[in-house]
Amino acid sequence: MTSSDLILIVGGGPVGLALALSLQQKNIPFKVLEARLQGASHHDKRALALSYGTKQILETLGVWSQVETQATAINTIHISQRGGLGRTKLHAHEHRLPALGYVVSYGALMQALDAAIDHQHVMYEAVAREILPHDSDAEVHFDYAGQSHRLSSSLMVIADGGRSLEEIPGLVRETKAYGHDALVSKVHADLPHQNIAYERFTPSGPMALLPNGEHDFSLVWTGEKSMVDRLLSLDDATFLQELHEAFGDRVGQFLSVEKRMSFPLKLSSLSVTDTPHLVVIGNAAQTMHPVAGQGFNVGMRDASTLVSMLVQTSPMDWGNSTMLKAYRQQRQSDTRGGLLFTDFLVNVFTNPMLGVATLRGLGLTMMQYLPPVKRLLVNKMSFGK
Ligand SMILES: Cc1cc2nc3c(=O)[nH]c(=O)nc-3n(C[C@H](O)[C@H](O)[C@H](O)COP(=O)(O)OP(=O)(O)OC[C@H]3O[C@@H](n4cnc5c(N)ncnc54)[C@H](O)[C@@H]3O)c2cc1C
Repeated sequence: MTSSDLILIVGGGPVGLALALSLQQKNIPFKVLEARLQGASHHDKRALALSYGTKQILETLGVWSQVETQATAINTIHISQRGGLGRTKLHAHEHRLPALGYVVSYGALMQALDAAIDHQHVMYEAVAREILPHDSDAEVHFDYAGQSHRLSSSLMVIADGGRSLEEIPGLVRETKAYGHDALVSKVHADLPHQNIAYERFTPSGPMALLPNGEHDFSLVWTGEKSMVDRLLSLDDATFLQELHEAFGDRVGQFLSVEKRMSFPLKLSSLSVTDTPHLVVIGNAAQTMHPVAGQGFNVGMRDASTLVSMLVQTSPMDWGNSTMLKAYRQQRQSDTRGGLLFTDFLVNVFTNPMLGVATLRGLGLTMMQYLPPVKRLLVNKMSFGK
């Protein structure tokens, strides 16, 4: 099989599919290779925090009306630290936004994207094994229906989430393991959430409670692997009690918890991408700490920028080094900014040094009274600017 006249996308997760859908809208030919069965991700309950900018991208793709029925708006973000004074609140209305973001399950988002895509152009259960960039094109070797196949394209987009295709000639990845895991689950609280998302910094790591449904919150609780393993092993009642101790009384008692899962946290980015005909987007390009919910949204902006660039470039030049250099330059500040911002938050807010907690508290209190600083933070979180 060869096919150099269409854009090949390896990985049909939310970022890969959003890219595909955008190409479909612009009548740009594409093919997606996706390892999973069609519909396999529809039941994935992990909660994604969508920024306001991502909501606008989904609107343009024509899928927001479906996603919205499953989404919970975040109107306020409440930032605090455990064992220290100071807090900051960000309100959507202060920034003239209808919402600061939305919480939706991975499965609901995938369902909406899947419903809009023309499935003729998606090969499910197609597992890429090897990617080989050449001077004239990029080639993928993949398994499909029990056989090995090969496709090549003048522009191949890697959107595999960064977990399967480690070694690609010309790409160098920098990785920093935090040694921390994230425990994720859904908890039911006594009091209504009032569309408030809580970001709480604790000495062991940040935790977030995101409004999801009427009384429910999606929980992301990060800390050393040993701590997370212990939290996973607790019975529900003890777990909820410990959660209450760490989080405080803001939403009353926690009444129930769904299945708890964990995943390791790392910071990963591409330091060298010296490959014509190949571009890497989404989590495959950058993986960041979940604090401040940046990672997924940066990935959506990758897809959106790439499509804008394709539209402005003659098809003869798609995937050439000039186009890809321009793409990387355009994405650099958002990507690096996201990585540095999340890494900074984790480092500053988990620093146990004497006096640092007081300074942090002071910072949080000052921020509460400094609208320009809040504006910068909201713009960064909503639009990556
Ligand atoms: C276990 C886990 C839990 C998470 N929980 C949260 C959370 O609670 N909140 C949050 O905001 N973020 C969470 N994240 C991060 C979030 O899932 C990512 O930011 C988001 O999924 C990135 O989207 P993506 O499309 O770039 O990658 P992915 O969602 O990873 O999609 C990649 C796609 O590529 C496909 N693929 C992979 N390898 C191949 C291959 N070789 N050939 C073909 N197809 C392939 C996969 O099947 C998948 O469909 C979590 C991540 C993980 C790993």
